[in-house]
Amino acid sequence: MINVTIIPILEDNYAYLLEFKSGETVIVDPGEAGPIIDVLREKNLSLDFILNTHHHSDHIAGNHDLKNAYNAKIAGPAKDSYRIADINIELQEGSTFQFGEEETQILETPGHTTGGICIYFPASKIIFTGDTVFSMSCGRLFEGTPEQMWESFQKIMALPDNTKLYCGHEYTQANGQFCLTIEPDNPDLKARMEEVDALRIEGKPTLPSTIGLEKQTNAFLRAGSAERFAEIRVMKDNF
Ligand code: ZN
Ligand code: FE
Repeated sequence: MINVTIIPILEDNYAYLLEFKSGETVIVDPGEAGPIIDVLREKNLSLDFILNTHHHSDHIAGNHDLKNAYNAKIAGPAKDSYRIADINIELQEGSTFQFGEEETQILETPGHTTGGICIYFPASKIIFTGDTVFSMSCGRLFEGTPEQMWESFQKIMALPDNTKLYCGHEYTQANGQFCLTIEPDNPDLKARMEEVDALRIEGKPTLPSTIGLEKQTNAFLRAGSAERFAEIRVMKDNF
């Protein structure tokens, strides 16, 4: 089982520190280095790998300083290797990589960007979705089409319902408020929002979610078709 520490960075991003039984450590999506170095110092840990879901600066801007400080290796999407500096390990669909004692499965999930990936650890049933799927929303379509994003959702939804989902941002509360305008009578959504509101009052993260919970509450995953998804995406962009 991977030990995951949620590290709030920037305005509303999360980086994730993964500690493996082997003692190896991985940081997912370090959009800045400072808060991550603080946590590593507190825990008296070094850093072996930096793992990026996609090329946006709020997910990679800490790469350089962390690589220099710890001599960590950078693993990221093969398709983004031209725009993520100093990638050591290129990840692509169907490829696996061994972090500590656990193997990853890489899902290529274009839509938010063309090169973005989700990183799935089947043994621990954990997925890091970057800005592809948020709790109760998804990333904006900066580079991909609605059809591509919809296909990416299908890959994620095919994973077991009890898979824990960690995404790139704490947008959950506002996302849920939008989902309630689409499905005001969805009981699972109402229950999740009660939980989310309570967590946010205490300043706590709303993550991880699970694939099963997202299937019950996320209006984007629940759209039913790429066409309807595209409509909902436009509504959210103007929400
Ligand atoms: Zn992004
Ligand atoms: Fe982001």
